[in-house]
Amino acid sequence: SELDDSNAHEEKIFVSVRLRPLNERELASNEVSDWECINNTTIIFKNSLQERTLLPAAYTFDRVFGCDRPTKQVYDEAAKKVALSVLSGINSSIFAYGQTSSGKTYTMSGVTECAIVDIYDYIDKHCEREFVLKFSAMEIYNESVRDLLSTDSAPLRLLDDPERGTMIEKLSEVTLRGSDHLRELLAVCEAQRQIGETTLNETSSRSHQILRLTVESSAREYLGAANSSALTASVSFIDLAGSECASQTLSAGTRLKEGCHINRSLLTLGTVIRKLSKGRNGHIPYRDSKLTRILQNCLGGNARTAIICTMSPAHSHVEKSRNTLLFASCAK
Ligand code: ADP
Ligand code: MG
Repeated sequence: SELDDSNAHEEKIFVSVRLRPLNERELASNEVSDWECINNTTIIFKNSLQERTLLPAAYTFDRVFGCDRPTKQVYDEAAKKVALSVLSGINSSIFAYGQTSSGKTYTMSGVTECAIVDIYDYIDKHCEREFVLKFSAMEIYNESVRDLLSTDSAPLRLLDDPERGTMIEKLSEVTLRGSDHLRELLAVCEAQRQIGETTLNETSSRSHQILRLTVESSAREYLGAANSSALTASVSFIDLAGSECASQTLSAGTRLKEGCHINRSLLTLGTVIRKLSKGRNGHIPYRDSKLTRILQNCLGGNARTAIICTMSPAHSHVEKSRNTLLFASCAK
């Protein structure tokens, strides 16, 4: 619309939905898939007539991916553009949102790997600029931030820097020697995350993982590059806590069963995203949670954001799947 054109630099959040296949356990208990992607943008609930429900049967997003779609396609069509904006100095964030076991970690680890390949490929082809890449990784559990590149599990403090915004005190930041070095560090994060799970006797369903890649670049003078300016930006890959942890309507009994408390970071993220999708003016409550404080400069403003909502197709998950689609609808 004309209104959108006047704010052409303010890109909307790119919202996609990915359906995972039924797993072996679900197939063994004769589950059938409730959902079907009828084209690239619309997902439908197949049993709405039988259910006599008044809820919508069709949902439209920027992109939807049926259970036969490979992660590479999800990356290419729903995350690549956002991820690669880091190379032109634009901050960005890519989220996986969905209930536990819907495919967040599966999707986000694949998307991260695809982005690493593309970013290093770009760097190899652009020798007129010099690139320095730095990596940091953290986990937020119960509003407590932990460094995933350190064996010290002490919670980290957030500090406000007048120029750089929210900083995480003592967070490790490693200058990368190359893509294999980055993959080694990703393995360290994965191990740290598992140690956390064992010692806290918790599961990753309640914690958020943020992997942050910072790209600094400047022209190599001897090549007389056209764009001589130095650029710095970061891209964050966020594997969110299970969306069931954000439900405000959980009864005490359900909460016990799910083993999860109301997750302040996930709730605040929802509010921030809803407000951003309605227009980027006005008060956005970034400061209300650790997650949104940490992500403030790669969410909203001039930053680019993609949210991949993952969904289980199983009928036994229909309520949670609908909640995921509701969240996705509010974000677009
Ligand atoms: P979450 O992180 O949301 O809890 P996971 O990513 O761990 O979920 O996925 C749960 C299980 O389903 C894992 O065993 C994973 O390998 C599998 N899975 C998830 N998405 C897909 C997919 N698109 N295709 C095949 N298997 C998948
Ligand atoms: Mg997971």
